[in-house]
Amino acid sequence: MRTSFCSLAALVWPALVFAQHAPVGYTDTPYLPDGKWRVHDLNRPHPRMVTPGATAGAPPSDAIVLLDGTSLSHWTGTKGGKPIEPGWRLENGYMECVPESTDLVTKEKFGDIQLHVEWTSPTKIEGESQDRGNSGVILMGRYEVQVLDSYENITYADGQAAAMYGQYPPLVNAVRKPGEWQTYDIVFEAPRFENGKLVKPAYLTLFHNGVLVHNHEAWLGTVEHRRVAHYTPHAAEEALTLQNHGTRVRYRNIWVRNIGTYDQP
Ligand code: MG
Repeated sequence: MRTSFCSLAALVWPALVFAQHAPVGYTDTPYLPDGKWRVHDLNRPHPRMVTPGATAGAPPSDAIVLLDGTSLSHWTGTKGGKPIEPGWRLENGYMECVPESTDLVTKEKFGDIQLHVEWTSPTKIEGESQDRGNSGVILMGRYEVQVLDSYENITYADGQAAAMYGQYPPLVNAVRKPGEWQTYDIVFEAPRFENGKLVKPAYLTLFHNGVLVHNHEAWLGTVEHRRVAHYTPHAAEEALTLQNHGTRVRYRNIWVRNIGTYDQP
């Protein structure tokens, strides 16, 4: 008995000593290049806790859920620049664009964001090129990530699904068949203006169905058709728009995280 107690103590005691002295940070290491924090700095603030979604694509704990499939409460239609009742159809956990209605616009405004969007183009194939399953995720109401049925549907490259419309095609075409749900996971950095001049362009990183299709690409400016984009100064935060391009594209599970409102720990 005594032997086994001693053996146990011999095993546990060093572990306890080690646990008591395991360093949780240092105050004598060199400074990182920004001069604010040392390597492994004891006093560096810890990142806040965020509970991730239980499944891939589910909103994490600090997301603003813009569409959970039960309500259009975060959205308005738009007419003459004024908000009106949203005219899109809500059913079975998704919302569907009604061609006779308008674009949808969020009531909230956003700057730098992480955005998750799920969409699907109509199963019944109608039209071709830009007329097939066209919609768009228009960041700040100005910078359009194209939504299009690009499955066996030829159109100009900078107008296919996941293109920065009129500017850059996606790196690859990761589109699914019409009727299948697709995901956009977006990191968007808003442009910065000072005294009416652009000092930093907007940037886009985009994963289409989990595939990287834009890697911190700079926007040339506000979306244009048949013209070269350019910037017009605007507010630091603007509403998000879903485009009504006359086809019955569906959306579900849309959520956003503000990423520009806190400092890097
Ligand atoms: Mg479009």
